[in-house]
Formats: sequence, structure tokens, C-alpha cells
Amino acid sequence: MADTRYLDWPFFDDRHRALARELEAWAAQQVPHAHGPDVDAGCRALVRALGAGGWLAHVVGGRVHGGAADVIDTRAVCILRETLARHSGLADFAFAMQGLGSGAISLAGSDAQKAACLPRVARGEAIAAFALSEPDAGSDVAAMACAARADGGDYVLDGEKTWISNGGIADFYVVFARTGEAPGSRGISAFIVDAGTPGLQIAERIEVIAPHPLARLRFTNCRIPASRRIGAAGEGFKVAMRTLDVFRTSVAAAALGLARCAMDAALQRATTRRMFNGVLADFQLTQARLAQMATTIDSAALLTYRAAWQRDQGANVTREAAMAKMVATEGAQQVIDAAVQLWGGLGVVSEQTVERLYREIRALRIYEGATEVQQLIIARELLREAGTPA
Ligand SMILES: Cc1cc2nc3c(=O)[nH]c(=O)nc-3n(C[C@H](O)[C@H](O)[C@H](O)COP(=O)(O)OP(=O)(O)OC[C@H]3O[C@@H](n4cnc5c(N)ncnc54)[C@H](O)[C@@H]3O)c2cc1C
Repeated sequence: MADTRYLDWPFFDDRHRALARELEAWAAQQVPHAHGPDVDAGCRALVRALGAGGWLAHVVGGRVHGGAADVIDTRAVCILRETLARHSGLADFAFAMQGLGSGAISLAGSDAQKAACLPRVARGEAIAAFALSEPDAGSDVAAMACAARADGGDYVLDGEKTWISNGGIADFYVVFARTGEAPGSRGISAFIVDAGTPGLQIAERIEVIAPHPLARLRFTNCRIPASRRIGAAGEGFKVAMRTLDVFRTSVAAAALGLARCAMDAALQRATTRRMFNGVLADFQLTQARLAQMATTIDSAALLTYRAAWQRDQGANVTREAAMAKMVATEGAQQVIDAAVQLWGGLGVVSEQTVERLYREIRALRIYEGATEVQQLIIARELLREAGTPA
């Protein structure tokens, strides 16, 4: 059983503690450990179950549109992601993507856009996706080339997006495209594009080491009404960054969930694996490793829930969220690697828990800002405060 003493920390209210207990009980019953070979079907089933269970309401903003609160409660989202990730990486993915994919609408959508999309997302009846990255614009996202040209009362999209989670199974995509009001990041707008819109094609499905629906999208003369633009023209980059600001801390929480799962597996193996007339845990080298793993997890948890708490107080958390994401994802990778080592040969056998975690953690150090990008964000904030902007 994972260590849940962190829930006693003063960052949380009693409602967060109750939420953690309720999801733990629900996930133990409803979330399978293995999802079968059809990842699309597995993901759809998880979204439906998470919607029916009421959990997706926590990633949607606005009670009137099916959200659990008027403003997304970052601590709730983090606790839910940590708990789900401890049970299943795919369940965490399905949960998080509903939030990331609809986040721009929660934050900047019109009432009509919110009414059309958010209740269905919260009930698990519509699957959302967030389409920002391009083949030549990943970390340097402001270099994007996908264009949306105003034409009468419509916009016409041309270009590509890649690494789009839920690509191929989403009901709608929030797409960021260049509208040209100004150069660089000030000339980008956000749009809601329904799957099935003529001119939107799934150009390629991408297989990754921890399978989940992922695709490259192609837009060719893809016409959508101007009413599908989210917020003002030219404000799309800001909307994307605000969306990532909400969810970046929750990536740290997901990494914590994966790390805690590895810690449990490591303890279980170290205390039962017989060798040299004892068990693996008898040896001080093992104890040092376990101590390091536990301390890495607690340090990451403190940074994660500090950032979540601070955001819920209405503070700017650019620096804190970047620190949390960097430390939690890098730390989880180390913890999981240590768990694989403790499991010996069994640690690299396909579909063993620690082998699955080893594959699942890797992408978290890359998406929503690679570790190096988080380092740059932290340094930029430090230098700005020191009066010498980077
Ligand atoms: C599994 C997965 C799911 C994803 N889901 C989505 C999604 O749903 N929607 C979406 O829009 N995108 C998604 N992405 C894309 C993701 O956000 C990008 O992969 C990420 O931003 C990095 O971009 P890139 O892959 O082009 O790498 P690059 O930009 O080419 O960067 C490569 C590496 O260079 C290093 N680096 C970057 N900048 C610097 C710097 N300034 N100084 C030094 N080193 C640097 C980092 O180590 C980085 O990993 C996903 C990616 C993955 C792997």
C-alpha cells in the first residue's frame, strides 16, 4: 500500500483528503492494471468510466458547465492524477488529456463554446485533444507554421500538428495556428476543430514505448466557422501557455504516482527476495537505495503540492510549477530505475510492473516542456527578479 501520509500536510483541505480516499477505493475496483492490446478501446473505456464516476468534472472549469468547481482546483487535479498514475498510466493519461484538451475552452472559451464542449467532456461523452506541437516546432513552439487564413466568415487551416495525444480517437481538437496579427507568438490563435471536419486527416498514428493514442494531423484547406476561434485573434499563444500553467504541476503529480508505485514494488521485492542466507533488504546497499528513493519522492511531493497550493491561492506559479515538473519527473525516473535494479532480471521482463513504469515515465521528462525548458523557465524567473532578464 502506497504511503499516503503526505495527505496530512497543511497544503490540503479535508475535501482533498476525502477525494483521495474515494478515488483510491474507486480505482481499486474500476481501473484494470492491464488494458489489452487495443489501446484506443482501452482509452475510450477509461474516459467513459472516469466520466461516469464523476472524476472528469475536476478537470473542467465552471459548475454551470459540468465542472466540480468554478475554477479548476489544482490540488484536486494533482491528487487525482497521482492516485490514478499509481494504478495505471493509461488511466492517468485518459484523465489528464480531458483537461489539457478542453483547458483552453475552460479558460478562454465563449459561453456557447463552453456549453457545447465542457459538459460532454466532464461526462466522458466527448474526447478532447490539445494540438500545439509541430514537426519543426516542439520546444520552440512559437516557430509553428500551421496557418489559419480568415476567409469570409470562416477560417481555413493548412499545415501539420504532431505528437497529438488522443489523435485518432478525439471528438474535437483544440488547434493552435498562425493567424498573422503580429510576428512570432503574438500572431497565433486557438480553434476548436471537430474530428470529421473535411480537410482534417489523421496522417500517421505514432507508436510509442508506453502505448497511448498518438497521431500526426494534417490540415488541408480545412474550413471552420470563425465562431470556432477561442478568445481573441492573436491571443492563442497566451491561451496555450495558460492551459499548460494549469496542467504542468499535474504532470509532476503523475510522476509521483508512478514513483510511488515503483517504491511499493521495490519494498515488496526487497523484503521477500531470498539471497545470501537472508533477504535483499538486509543489506545496507539496499537500504541506502530505498532511503534515497523515499527521500526523492518526498522532495518531489513537497515541490508539487507547494506549487498546487500556491496556484489555488491565486499566485503566479511559473517558477514553482517548473521546479515541481523538473524534480518530480527526473526523480521518478531515478526511483523507477532503482526499482528495476532491485527486481534484477525480472525487472526487465515485459509487463512486469517496474518494466511498465520504466517505459511510462520516460515521456513525462519531454512533454509539456522538456526538463531543459523547465530549467530555462526557472532561470528566467530568477534573473527577472534580480533585474537582469534572460
Ligand atoms: C508521448 C508524448 C505525448 C505528447 N502529447 C502532446 C499533445 O497532446 N499535444 C501537443 O501539442 N504536443 C504533445 N507532445 C509534444 C511535446 O510537447 C514535444 O515533444 C516537446 O515539446 C518537445 O518537442 P520536440 O519533440 O520537438 O523536441 P525538440 O524541441 O526537438 O527538443 C529536443 C530536446 O532538446 C532539448 N532542448 C530543448 N530546448 C532546449 C534549449 N533551449 N536548450 C538546451 N536543450 C534544449 C530537450 O532535451 C529536448 O527534449 C507529446 C510528446 C510526447 C513524447
